[in-house]
Amino acid sequence: MSHEIPLSKPDITQLEIDAVVQTMMSDRLSIGPVQEQFEHLVAARTERDHAIACSSGTAGLHMALLALGIGPGDEVITTPFSFIASSNAILYVGAKPVFVDICPRSLNMDPDRIEAAITPRTKAILAVETFGNPEYMDVYEQIAARHEMPMIEDCCEALGCTLKGRPCGSFGRVGVFGFYPNKQITTGEGGMIVTSDRRLADMCRSLRSQGRPVPGGLVSGPSSPASVGGLDAPPPTLSTGSWLLHERLGYNYRLSEIHAAIGVGQMKRLDEIVAKRQAVARMYMNKLMDSPDLMLPTIRSDATMSWFVFVLRLATSYTREERDRIIAGLRRHEVGAADYFPCIHLQPFYRQMFGYKPGDFPIAESVSQRTIAVPFYNSMTQRDVDFVSQTLGLMLSRENLSRG
Ligand SMILES: *Cc1c(COP(=O)(O)O)cnc(C)c1O
Repeated sequence: MSHEIPLSKPDITQLEIDAVVQTMMSDRLSIGPVQEQFEHLVAARTERDHAIACSSGTAGLHMALLALGIGPGDEVITTPFSFIASSNAILYVGAKPVFVDICPRSLNMDPDRIEAAITPRTKAILAVETFGNPEYMDVYEQIAARHEMPMIEDCCEALGCTLKGRPCGSFGRVGVFGFYPNKQITTGEGGMIVTSDRRLADMCRSLRSQGRPVPGGLVSGPSSPASVGGLDAPPPTLSTGSWLLHERLGYNYRLSEIHAAIGVGQMKRLDEIVAKRQAVARMYMNKLMDSPDLMLPTIRSDATMSWFVFVLRLATSYTREERDRIIAGLRRHEVGAADYFPCIHLQPFYRQMFGYKPGDFPIAESVSQRTIAVPFYNSMTQRDVDFVSQTLGLMLSRENLSRG
């Protein structure tokens, strides 16, 4: 049996298992009350009027951009230092991602560089809480408002964190969460759009389910997500509300009731989950803060973190090759490690499409080549953290020795 300490691990309890079993024994496996309950829990937590569950965070970002009417010829300002999905969603709608280099401390877009990137084609700012750090979300919101354009908050890495008392997911016009197994909470696969814009919410509900009309129609009328199409036989004519009436090009981006059941259980445990993650982060901080070779995450005093991952940065004297050797060494010692994130603009197809090259976003590139994500999950013990820290220390001393 392997004693590997993995990079991440979901935290599933009997609560989630029972909820899934109960849902599976019901006759409703999609578009039902459990999804609605999951939506209400996330809406409440993010202080938004509407939440729309969907099949992934990526699908949620795609629908948010479509619902905002962003398309070919438009530009969207975003970060090059993120998981690729935040930028790919902009490509899905035919718009162009315009990257803004990051602030080296928070690792989020540098607010002072945003206005220089705005052109007459700019239609939105898509901001990412990289590694779950909410810094500047309020500033991006103000910049977007000043330029009369929407801000989209890609909060896929940030569920449960706050800035100045505001929950993440509450910034900008619309926020999007993802529930892949390495996120703060998981549904296996899944996502959630949150907004207080009724029209946008209705549009996302329609896009999620093959462009079907939302009961009451867009803009006006009461919204009843549970009745957007059902398992009932469709009525004989194409009346509003018909299962086979498609008002626009839509998608199947729905979340099943089974997945939603996991989400309900996880949301009920969110405070407990966040507390566990904060405790593990503290263990790492205490263990590693004195190392001169490492830079630890810094969080503003007016922010709270729910900790998506724990990403260390090597001191600036380290090269990419040394970082990669350290990651390989950790893995050889059965310690999970990863290079979160390679810059998006340097991914092969972005270079090909837009002609990006090394040096285009120097701060993101400099940070990116020195980061190491170390194992981080709720059930990590002090022993696990000690073992990871000792193994990392060993790898660092090997690099220092080989430098002479
Ligand atoms: C995880 C993630 C996504 C995508 O979420 P999925 O549910 O995996 O599609 C989007 N943006 C960021 C920043 C993410 O970390």
